Amino acid sequence: KKEQKNKQYAVIGLGRFGGSVCKELYAQGHEVLAIDFDEDKVREYAAFATHSVQIDTTDEGALKNVGIRNFDHVVVAIGDHIQASILTTLLLKELGIEKIWVKAQNTYHQKVLDKLGADLVVHPEFDMGKRIAQKMTSDKVIDFIDLEDDYSIVELYATKKVSGKSLADLHLRATYGVTVLAMKNGGKMNIAPRPDDKIKEDDLLIVMGHKDDLARFENQGL
Ligand code: ADP
Repeated sequence: KKEQKNKQYAVIGLGRFGGSVCKELYAQGHEVLAIDFDEDKVREYAAFATHSVQIDTTDEGALKNVGIRNFDHVVVAIGDHIQASILTTLLLKELGIEKIWVKAQNTYHQKVLDKLGADLVVHPEFDMGKRIAQKMTSDKVIDFIDLEDDYSIVELYATKKVSGKSLADLHLRATYGVTVLAMKNGGKMNIAPRPDDKIKEDDLLIVMGHKDDLARFENQGL
């Protein structure tokens, strides 16, 4: 927690995406440097960042002058200007920034950023669209987090089918290869469920596993 507080963040590009990242970091009490080459943006974000500066981040000298090397985590949110986004990422990489997250505009952009060694490439419209579609097609899934290598954590509603059964009764690990991390019974969160804890209809189950196994559990087990 303490380390997190002392981390230095910089956000490059204060459009809708970068702007919202910047405001949220600042609202959470972190130190944020807001960067854009548009003076109006820089003025606008003076109230939503620790400092805001006007530079062109494709200019290596300008990046060095604002002390970008002192920042642990830099977000590049230069949307439409793909060339500037790529060059900025390359410079940040060369300057040895520890963590670089970049917003991609399309799949080609995403590929180049991956090759450059960006630590995370986000594609908000694409990612969110996928998420919405996945939520639309399941009435049992409430929310989910994608982990590495096709593993996820999902929040599911317990159906009538499992009501009155204990975790041991269901043999979830053996049958589906999934693990119940927590369950919410009548408004109370149980974060260390035991084998004999019983499930009731409409309880919330927080389950971790491989995507395919989770889908099997959702479709056949619930
Ligand atoms: P979004 O789609 O998230 O709204 P935009 O493409 O509208 O993103 O915004 C990107 C921001 O990045 C703009 O405010 C623009 O001025 C800024 N920007 C673009 N190129 C550079 C650059 N070379 N250096 C600094 N800021 C830049």
